[in-house]
Amino acid sequence: MRIARFSIDGNVAFGAVEGDQPDELVLDIIKGIPFTDFELSGTRVPLSKVRLLPPVLPNKVVAFGRNYAEHARELGSEVPDAPFAFFKPATSVIGHGDPIQYPPFSQELHHEAELAVVIGRMCREVPRERVKDVIFGYTCANDVTARDVQRREAQWARAKGFDTSCPLGPWVETDIDITAAADLTIQLTVNGEQRQLGRTSEMIHPIEDLIVNISEAMTLLPGDVILTGTPAGVGPLNVGDEVAVTIEGIGTLTNKVVKRD
Ligand code: MG
Repeated sequence: MRIARFSIDGNVAFGAVEGDQPDELVLDIIKGIPFTDFELSGTRVPLSKVRLLPPVLPNKVVAFGRNYAEHARELGSEVPDAPFAFFKPATSVIGHGDPIQYPPFSQELHHEAELAVVIGRMCREVPRERVKDVIFGYTCANDVTARDVQRREAQWARAKGFDTSCPLGPWVETDIDITAAADLTIQLTVNGEQRQLGRTSEMIHPIEDLIVNISEAMTLLPGDVILTGTPAGVGPLNVGDEVAVTIEGIGTLTNKVVKRD
């Protein structure tokens, strides 16, 4: 099931996305919240009549760096022996169609297409074989990075945590299992031109290892998001660009880059 969060006439709700043709999608409004048992209301609204919101409101976004060897090489970085995590704050999250605001303290904004894992239940010290049970679903992410700031500041709080630096969406796909998630095409275009193309099978540390690693240290909550790293091909974003992340079996997350007001 594809679960979207949206607003219509000032109300916010979750809905199950139905249909195949992009211009004919409808939302069946969900009664309750999707992390518990929920029912579909049978009330349907066309997707074109709503504003999509970030599909979840995470308490935290845990992002893993250098998890594709080719990408580590293109930045001249060592491939880490163990998974290596940093945070993006809740205030960095935006949804499909929301603008990425170019931060005034950077001159080198980069895109990073990533598979995002959405956590479905509170958990800590998750054993490898139980990882699949704590995953709610998957969505597309763009780990937007101020590369110049990342180079000159040891901590990446500003470089990767500024407002609008974490587009997520367009919805969460819950029907992909962890085996399928480990071999999906991930691609990114800027103004329709392909910049990144990879497969999630190229991850150095698979999804299981990432969740074991972070849950060893902290409690994960429903709606928390794990970013799994980006394949090679990262590069610049400029004001006016339209950037789109497409992951096989999930959908396409599109955002436009604007100057911050
Ligand atoms: Mg990244």
